[in-house]
Amino acid sequence: MDLIAIAVPFFLLALLIELFVDRIRGTGHYRANDAINSLSAGTLSTTFGYFTKIVPTVIWAYAFEEFALIDMPLAWFDMSPTGLLLWLVAMLAWDFCYYWSHRCGHEISILWASHAVHHQSEDYNLSTALRQTSTGFLFNWIFYLPLFLVGFPPEVLITVNSLNLIYQFWVHTQHIGKLGVLDRIFVTPSNHRVHHAQNEKYIDRNYGGILVLWDRLFGSFQEELDNDPVVFGVRKPLSSWNPFWANAQVYAYLWFDAVRTRRWRDKLGIWFRRTGWRPQDVEARYPKHRSDIRTFRKYDPPLAATLRYYLIGQFLVAVAGILWIGQLYASQGLAVVTIPCLLLWVQLYTLGMISDRRKNAIVFELGRLNLVLPSGVLAIVMTTSILANDARTWFVVVLYALLSSAWLRLASNVTAMQNLD
Ligand SMILES: [Zn+2]
Ligand SMILES: [Zn+2]
Repeated sequence: MDLIAIAVPFFLLALLIELFVDRIRGTGHYRANDAINSLSAGTLSTTFGYFTKIVPTVIWAYAFEEFALIDMPLAWFDMSPTGLLLWLVAMLAWDFCYYWSHRCGHEISILWASHAVHHQSEDYNLSTALRQTSTGFLFNWIFYLPLFLVGFPPEVLITVNSLNLIYQFWVHTQHIGKLGVLDRIFVTPSNHRVHHAQNEKYIDRNYGGILVLWDRLFGSFQEELDNDPVVFGVRKPLSSWNPFWANAQVYAYLWFDAVRTRRWRDKLGIWFRRTGWRPQDVEARYPKHRSDIRTFRKYDPPLAATLRYYLIGQFLVAVAGILWIGQLYASQGLAVVTIPCLLLWVQLYTLGMISDRRKNAIVFELGRLNLVLPSGVLAIVMTTSILANDARTWFVVVLYALLSSAWLRLASNVTAMQNLD
């Protein structure tokens, strides 16, 4: 059973509580632009996943049906002592595969291209936990294939996968310090902060999902040191709030090098070499800047307060949108959520543009509100029955578009989009 959809409201509640604590303590672990970007990446990952999870699902199901070595009926996984032991074995086995999936996700270029999304945030809070890739469907399934081949029932494995991911949520916080012996057994806030660091000493450490014991076993453990405070983020910064570019950036860099390098061996090999490796000829011709941790500054283009409030308000609309889409998907399937997802993606894109203070961001956002949104809603009412084609629906859509447009014009005129440029 996929428990993640059920957990989402609790995630959001915990995030609000952490935000409240952050404000009370004045710790400054949240910036609106960074948190919105992380949650946008998470929203994109979830909704994109509706369309792509067919890939692992079909492959896993086929492997299980055709090649499972041991016949393990689902009924074995009950609440009896033996059943609970089997659950524990499945959880451990999944966590072991997660460790290797995650480790390769850092150490092999094409896999890092996908996983990098989770690490681009230069803040560290519960919103970082929801910052997930949209391209995990391409290769991640490979690492769990052995478990389906062994014969664990897919229902059990899907459940332990969601438990594994749900566990990892709480460790993305700076409000919990060291936890003593627990830091040496389980993945905890302290040792996962190390994992999100760009400090030289912390790079490629602590890959575990639930147990950090794997890292201790396979030599990738590093504890958080008081004399080396964590600097969060990646060494080739994203420097953008566009959630689509967040997913494409590292693939684009690899493609850039693959096209320009002369040797065919490098054109193909670059994708599978150690992360960071570049062919000598492109390295010489197109040297890349790596951020220096001593002079590192977070990406933070200034935005007038009125526009920031506009962004937050519109992002809350997007959150309502994803919750609505999630329910629709669960009850009515993929076909009906296609257009709502497209509308949501356009919204995430334009909000990213405003955050980045891109030229034409305001024009794009006005276009979304007054052109894309009504056209999308018209397409929805014509092709599905999820929205009534009545006066009330159109009243809400037009009112939202008009009020938002007025708010946006006011925010961008009165304040400082121009002044800041
Ligand atoms: Zn990672
Ligand atoms: Zn993480």
